[in-house]
Amino acid sequence: MSVYVALTRGGQPWEPEYIEAVSHEKCIGCGRCFKVCGMDVLSIMGVSEDGDLVAIAEDDEDDDGEIDRKVMTVKYPENCIGCRACAKVCTKGAQRHVKVAVNAA
Ligand code: SF4
Ligand code: SF4
Repeated sequence: MSVYVALTRGGQPWEPEYIEAVSHEKCIGCGRCFKVCGMDVLSIMGVSEDGDLVAIAEDDEDDDGEIDRKVMTVKYPENCIGCRACAKVCTKGAQRHVKVAVNAA
């Protein structure tokens, strides 16, 4: 039997929708989702001219020419609580979230 994995404070079923991926075609690297997520799930990365993901410092505002643009990545998906705050602030529809049913024992 599938069950909800959480309840609201009022005891109503709450079905988390966990972030699964960020489309690097749609993402503009604005960082809004990173700022609203309190669970250390997301990480901003650079995209090189060759299309490779490269690490950058999160507070690095410099464009030293090594990266073409920035994109968000799902670094620690296991930390996600499925609150969808990140989806609410994304104006590009760049994220995909999934519901995960839990089977009762
Ligand atoms: S759904 Fe919530 S916890 Fe998960 S990445 Fe988005 S803001 Fe963070
Ligand atoms: S809010 Fe959307 S467009 Fe902005 S960094 Fe996050 S996924 Fe990318």
